[in-house]
Amino acid sequence: MKLKTFLPILFTTFLLVFNSYASDIGIGTAGNAADSVVAPKVFINTGFENASPMNWEIDSAGRVIGSLVYDHERFSRNRAVNHFHFRVEAAPGTEVTIILKNFDNIWNNTPASSISKRTPFVVSFDDKTWESRPAELLPGNFLQIKLRMESPSAYIASLEPYRISDLDKFLDKIKKNKLVNITTIGTTSEGRSLEIIRIGNENAPKRLFLRARAHAFESGGNWTVQGLVQKLISNDEDSRRYLKRYCVYILPMANKDGVARGKTRFNANGYDLNRKWDKPADQIIAPENHYLEKWLEKMVKANKRPDLGLDLHNDPGGYLHVSRPDGDITAYLANMQKLEMLLRKYTWFTEGSTKPGFRNPGTLGEGFMERFGVQAAVYELNYEWIEGLKKAPLAADWLLLGSKLPEVFYHYFE
Ligand SMILES: [Zn+2]
Repeated sequence: MKLKTFLPILFTTFLLVFNSYASDIGIGTAGNAADSVVAPKVFINTGFENASPMNWEIDSAGRVIGSLVYDHERFSRNRAVNHFHFRVEAAPGTEVTIILKNFDNIWNNTPASSISKRTPFVVSFDDKTWESRPAELLPGNFLQIKLRMESPSAYIASLEPYRISDLDKFLDKIKKNKLVNITTIGTTSEGRSLEIIRIGNENAPKRLFLRARAHAFESGGNWTVQGLVQKLISNDEDSRRYLKRYCVYILPMANKDGVARGKTRFNANGYDLNRKWDKPADQIIAPENHYLEKWLEKMVKANKRPDLGLDLHNDPGGYLHVSRPDGDITAYLANMQKLEMLLRKYTWFTEGSTKPGFRNPGTLGEGFMERFGVQAAVYELNYEWIEGLKKAPLAADWLLLGSKLPEVFYHYFE
């Protein structure tokens, strides 16, 4: 090859190599395509505890387009996204618009959107104090969030978060209290410990069992049991009166793996911990239920069968889900009516219970009754709106509910 021909090829090769090197280290070069890309002013950080996995990009209008990742159920078409939790990083004063996608859930093999016109979001500029704000439902089933940065980072979430670290801090605080007994009953699929907290004397006349957080995004149950425990160990006149009548057993966070990974509903193996309660749970696929069943069997054998079991959840309805397994449930239905009346009387609950004919087979409520003879129900806390307080919920509202529940159970066990 003649030198005249060779030099341009050599020069072109040099440019190609240099340009790829330059873009690797972030140097713009004249004529480089990278020049036409404007550096985004916003970064979405999902690298922290309970953050929701998501893909995101900045569109030509500078908006963040976030594609949330569905949580899939094993052996079904069901998929769910309700949980979002991420940190926006941008200069204070920046106006940020975020459009979130993938709320096209499939529920009982039927399409079911998980957002509505009144779906709110919560925001915190210091990861401590949260406020609720309205989001906007856009055509195409997208959720639009607009905010002005008040500090260099803003935490955004669907519900006020309650993480494993929050539970650990709480357990640390209460574990030395003489009214508290914490035992580990087993481990989750990924090896996280499953605790049962007992509050009060195990020989009290009545026993209550509560489970929270079977579904990973539903932090309301955790705040509620925290409020309840705080009231019960306050050692005031009321709490002493309560604990003379009953003691409480709580599995505070059943789906720890889902909470750790920022998932919406299922456990690490795609198992719904509030389904298939009509049969023993598989120790490998659903250890969170398996160990609870083993614990319950032990309680029943020891003549310590709970007199009432409640599974705390979040949904956009907020009803008390009365169980209706086959057989004579007359006494149970009367008790549920009493429970509903007491909830209305002593707490901000106004939503009521599910209508006659409603059945949700396989839930903890029905499984506890059919298999263990424990009267039980699923109590949903509305995550969009608390009608009794005329506001979108924050942790403080659920803590308040929890602090009032001991009075409800006191009269329930009368
Ligand atoms: Zn739930």
